[in-house]
Amino acid sequence: MFRSLIVFIAIGVIVWLVSRMLSNKRNTPRSKTGASNPHEIKKIVQCQQCQVFIPEDKAIKSENFSFCSQQHLEQWTQDQ
Ligand SMILES: [Zn+2]
Repeated sequence: MFRSLIVFIAIGVIVWLVSRMLSNKRNTPRSKTGASNPHEIKKIVQCQQCQVFIPEDKAIKSENFSFCSQQHLEQWTQDQ
């Protein structure tokens, strides 16, 4: 009786772990909606003008280049 209870709990823990792993995988594409997930690794890009590193979601994009601010985008465009 006692042993079957332990087996039952062990199966329950395994099912819980597997379902948690599966739901984590499913949640990953949801980060595109902008929900802040502290465990998510953000992509870091570099400003073309001052070489500072910034998270991609904070960067200002122009063609294939990234900038830390609108000002640096304009400065870089003028320098070209
Ligand atoms: Zn910059």
